[in-house]
Amino acid sequence: MKDLLGAVIEKNRYWTQYGNVATYIPELSKGNPDVLGISVCDMMGNEYFAGDYDIKFTMQSISKIVSFMCALIDNTSEKLFRKISVSPTAEGFNSIVNLETKNAHKPLNPMINSGAIATVSMVKGITSEDKFNRIYNFMKEITNNPDIKVNDDVYHSEKSTGDRNRALTYYMKSTRIIDDDVEEILDAYFKLCSIEVTCKDIAYMGAMLTNDGMLPCSGKRVLTKEIAKTVKAVMATCGMYDASGEFAINVGLPAKSGVSGGIVAVSPKKMGIGVIGPALDQRGNSIGGVKVLEDLSNRLDLNIF
Ligand code: GLU
Repeated sequence: MKDLLGAVIEKNRYWTQYGNVATYIPELSKGNPDVLGISVCDMMGNEYFAGDYDIKFTMQSISKIVSFMCALIDNTSEKLFRKISVSPTAEGFNSIVNLETKNAHKPLNPMINSGAIATVSMVKGITSEDKFNRIYNFMKEITNNPDIKVNDDVYHSEKSTGDRNRALTYYMKSTRIIDDDVEEILDAYFKLCSIEVTCKDIAYMGAMLTNDGMLPCSGKRVLTKEIAKTVKAVMATCGMYDASGEFAINVGLPAKSGVSGGIVAVSPKKMGIGVIGPALDQRGNSIGGVKVLEDLSNRLDLNIF
């Protein structure tokens, strides 16, 4: 497996030159576009890696699946889906347009910014800080890494420039999708996006989903099978922004990407996969990371469709 991963990284590394690092969050523009790495964790907890697998990056939208897990644990699905839909979108991840025109003001899904902010708001906790801590602690458990931390530079960069997210959140407050204080719930959301991980951390999290909600190695159940299924279904349909359909055809795995270039993918009953490649394509997905996943999926016949 190690040799295979090394070959996949080297074969696809040239793709990184065709993408660009995100710049709308100023601190992310410091990412190195040449980086490409992968880590795989199987259901027994065996790990394999190649390329720049030990580079740290902020979770960004990958944190959205963890918020979604906590919200599903803390609420009945009826209650949660009264506030947030699970419809794929052809609009960008920070689009405001559907909030006004579709679904009685509900955000379209928990994998885009509006839906994720509403999801954080549904997590158990009296204050936004409680909600952040609840999700952060769960994240430490499912990455098997108690040392993951908020990258303060990225957090401050997001907070000082996140006016689009402010607009989405004020809109949702006006339509009673959320009741929280806008700045406080955004603070929790920005911090969650700014938690720093490596491919290894997200591969472990992917392996837990692969394993229907049980941690690799220990076998401890952290999600019901039903919740793990719901999270994977929403990843498969909405996890790669408006490129989710193409990704389903070309890679065929439930996955979630983030604008710092990370992607977590889940190969059912086989492995969790984490990739990093900060150079992004037009849709905001890691250009090299998608190619690496496509190549791996083809070589190992992983496409679930
Ligand atoms: N923190 C980013 C934002 O709110 C996350 C976007 C992403 O990774 O899709 O815009």
